[in-house]
Amino acid sequence: MSTAQFFPWQVDVAQQWLGQRERFAHAWLVHGLAGIGKREFVFAAAAALMCESPVNGLACGQCLACGWVAKGHHPDLKRIRPEVMALEEGADQEDEDGAEGSPAAEATGSSKRAPSNDIRVDQIRNLAPWFNNATHRSGFRVALIYPAEALTHISGNALLKVLEEPPPATIFLLVADAPDRLLPTLLSRCRRLPLATPSAAIAQAWLAEQKVTHAAAWLAASGGAPVLAKKMAETQPQPCPEWLSTFVTSLEKGAGMNVGQLADTISKEPASQWIELLQRLVIDINLKAHGLEIRYFPVLHKSLAVLCERLAVAQLSELADWLNQQRRVAGHTLNGKLFAHAVLQRIAAACQPTRASAR
Ligand SMILES: [Zn+2]
Repeated sequence: MSTAQFFPWQVDVAQQWLGQRERFAHAWLVHGLAGIGKREFVFAAAAALMCESPVNGLACGQCLACGWVAKGHHPDLKRIRPEVMALEEGADQEDEDGAEGSPAAEATGSSKRAPSNDIRVDQIRNLAPWFNNATHRSGFRVALIYPAEALTHISGNALLKVLEEPPPATIFLLVADAPDRLLPTLLSRCRRLPLATPSAAIAQAWLAEQKVTHAAAWLAASGGAPVLAKKMAETQPQPCPEWLSTFVTSLEKGAGMNVGQLADTISKEPASQWIELLQRLVIDINLKAHGLEIRYFPVLHKSLAVLCERLAVAQLSELADWLNQQRRVAGHTLNGKLFAHAVLQRIAAACQPTRASAR
């Protein structure tokens, strides 16, 4: 993340928001659908807030502060994120994060712990000396905290204490996909800035600019989130994973499915990931059942048409609720393969043609 630019669909809202910086609140929660570029948004916002000669509220890209941000070592900018994410972002090469006690230094250094998925309380406590120093360019100091869902009860409370008596000239930008998963007390200390999902036309135009082919299919598979769609296009062979197409084809055929092999395949991925895809599948069946356009996997439309004939609306919502519950327990299962097997089996049972004819 060396550039600090807003995505095209963010520029208007950013200008409006950053334009009122004399009365700028000290803590904001930036939230919206996963994969629409919220992280990039707060990074670009930080650059704008620290810029010494902003243009229409946005960073000029020319001044000393902008230069520091671009090189990733502005001393008044901190990114507080789980170690796992810091490593993904290549933080170990960045001066800004190389300071003592930084997540990346600990995770890549002599530490014996595995990198954490949480924002740990030390990461919040270690900010204290930073708050006490004067800012280096007499502007704002900006702390980016993402994803805010990674705050634990303890680190969330430590942050709450800071926000209750905010340090001078310091702005906290928290990022969340799901604000309802945050501590209510923490939420009450933040002003909210909801970021809208861009229209399909804008998102597809941007994907085309990024040289993503079959933009519409990738955008559908991402749930309409262009940044995620681009990432998927770069890392996956096709918008609808092969195991899911295989599963749906066998569901369509009906009787005698052996889910064992598919369970083997998907249990190699994190359960939350494949359950989400199954949840999306059920949403698509539901949309099809109501004569609406398929949202995630348009390529499966023929099979989905067959399946929605077999499932009553009540059954579909039951299945959706059940998958929701499974997703909540997904991280705590002891045997991933058995779990995958049980989930696929449950869906297969619901989609049996015999059940429909017996109804
Ligand atoms: Zn500047």
